[in-house]
Amino acid sequence: MKMNCEPTHTPDQPDIPALREKYRQERERRIQVDGQKQYVRPTGEFAENYEADPHLPVVPRDPLSEDLDVAILGAGWSGIMAAYHLRNAGVSTFRHIDHAGDFGGVWYWNRYPGLQCDNDAYCYLPLLEEMGFMPSKKYADGQEIYEYCQRIAKRFEFYGKALFHTLVTAMRWDEGIKRWRVSTSRGDEIRARFVIMANGLLNIPKLPGIPGIHDFKGRMFHTARWDYDYTGGSREKPVLDRLADKSVAIVGTGATAIQATPYLGKYARQLYVLQRTPSTVDERSNPPTDPDWVKTLKPGWQKERQANFHRAAMEFLGPGEPDAICDIWTEISRNLAAEMEAAGWPQESFEQFMTRREVVDYRVMERLRNRAAAMVKDPATAEALKPWYRFLCKRPLSNDEFYPTFNRPNVKLIDVSASLGVQAMTEKGFMHDGVEYAVDCMIFASGFEVTSDLDRRWGINVFEGRGGKSIYRHWAEGPKTFHGIMTHGFPNQFYTGYIQGGLNATTTEQFGRQGYHIAYVISETLKRGAKVVEPSQAAQDAYVKHFQEVEFDSSQFQRECTPSYFTNEGQVKAPWALFRSYGPGWTAFQKLLEDWRTRQDLEGLVLEQ
Ligand code: NDP
Repeated sequence: MKMNCEPTHTPDQPDIPALREKYRQERERRIQVDGQKQYVRPTGEFAENYEADPHLPVVPRDPLSEDLDVAILGAGWSGIMAAYHLRNAGVSTFRHIDHAGDFGGVWYWNRYPGLQCDNDAYCYLPLLEEMGFMPSKKYADGQEIYEYCQRIAKRFEFYGKALFHTLVTAMRWDEGIKRWRVSTSRGDEIRARFVIMANGLLNIPKLPGIPGIHDFKGRMFHTARWDYDYTGGSREKPVLDRLADKSVAIVGTGATAIQATPYLGKYARQLYVLQRTPSTVDERSNPPTDPDWVKTLKPGWQKERQANFHRAAMEFLGPGEPDAICDIWTEISRNLAAEMEAAGWPQESFEQFMTRREVVDYRVMERLRNRAAAMVKDPATAEALKPWYRFLCKRPLSNDEFYPTFNRPNVKLIDVSASLGVQAMTEKGFMHDGVEYAVDCMIFASGFEVTSDLDRRWGINVFEGRGGKSIYRHWAEGPKTFHGIMTHGFPNQFYTGYIQGGLNATTTEQFGRQGYHIAYVISETLKRGAKVVEPSQAAQDAYVKHFQEVEFDSSQFQRECTPSYFTNEGQVKAPWALFRSYGPGWTAFQKLLEDWRTRQDLEGLVLEQ
């Protein structure tokens, strides 16, 4: 909401060759030969912890047997946006099916203390103008976002149809009835004409394969299943008073951990923060929404803001274009634009521009390292908290309390980078550098199955298209799609998320456009009296070829990046790398789809009556 967003002050002359070498060394010492395989499937108590819902009781119900037009697998943002567009397109016989007890997806499950969205809420919360809603502050609290999901679901009447506390266990295409047979953990047999995979990115908690992890006798839980019975407090009032006599360890220093750590530091008798790779943690500055600013907004403002955010975060700001977002995501573009302005916007080749951008990147990262040094009193701890990699190798973060937490006498940073993660766990706690640290509780802020094998990510045991072919085999070498939303051999099946499509800085905008396009295809199929829609092999091959030809080669950048789920744990050019998106960019991808829709011939799709 800052009206004048100024460039930041960054150190002038970073020694780029020296920094590049330092980044390279840091990357090398973090690369793991077992990449994704370093994570394990939970068993025993931990598996129960994932399956069970700590937030809402499971209400018994009879199994369903029904014919349905559209099954939407997932009731988080992608499922909500898909349903919104289906409804607008006149398709009303649909249901959400979700493991959770309500709408919200990640915002349902994650209730850990300090939970907030790291993105500008005026961009992130979709449909603000239509809903007549305004977030209370720039970075909304998790609870506000969760309640907003519910508000949308109520307004558009998604509730009566949704099946909650229901896990999809199998999906099989039945050629005889030309429908998907969807089986669930509640014994349902749903025969869905169409299925939309809106199962999200951060749906399955990930557990590091620490030797001895299952030997630990204390309390363990993942941050996405926060145990307030154990810690005390609640989402509404995170006073973790039951930790007053407890020694606690938190594993990880990613987006989740940096938000929860200040609360643990405040309430636990002793806190160990087990860090493998430091994050960038900038200042937060989270002002309440200014009513005077709201009064100035004109219709269409949210789309404009999202477009500005996208350009600043993922492309660049042109002459005279303001940075409306003004945060860590847009700093490089803002500083770069100021530099270009001062130089009179010289004509530069792409390579020259990228070199200039790289220097700004090094300077911003240096500023962020200096921030850690300035805020953490103990020099060794401050040094260990400094991130050594390029911006966007990991998700950039902001938090005002994370660094000061390390100035508390009861908080200790344990740098586990040398052992490539927590060395081992025992009955009593964890091992580090040959020393056993006894703790009462281990909290895993270890992330989600974002880029692991598809079957692990989706968690649906059986997923078979035409001829009983498994999607996991079909996509074993990576995705093959038509426009990122359908694949040959899996008729009437639609995908959302990060698969061979356009990438937008606002996730919910991306899901929204996908939902819109999917709703168009489904409604057009029905209008034409068809039962089946599927991309032809030729159309799919042509799209995949085009996608590969125009793909932006980010392998050099990735080779200099620390491993993370942003970089597929360091695997350069991994087939399922998260951000392998349409090379010419978001706007070009939307134009491609829009032109395709305008032609109204569903070119490339085969319809069957
Ligand atoms: P991340 O995957 O970002 O972080 C996981 C953390 O666990 C990392 O610090 C990782 O270290 C560490 N880790 C994993 N294995 C080990 C191990 N064996 N030993 C020690 N440490 C280990 O997960 P988060 O839950 O933090 O965030 C996931 C995503 O969720 C975010 O990137 C973001 O997209 C979203 N999110 C958004 C929020 C928001 O908007 N406010 C808040 C929270 C989450 P290493 O880096 O070395 O792999």
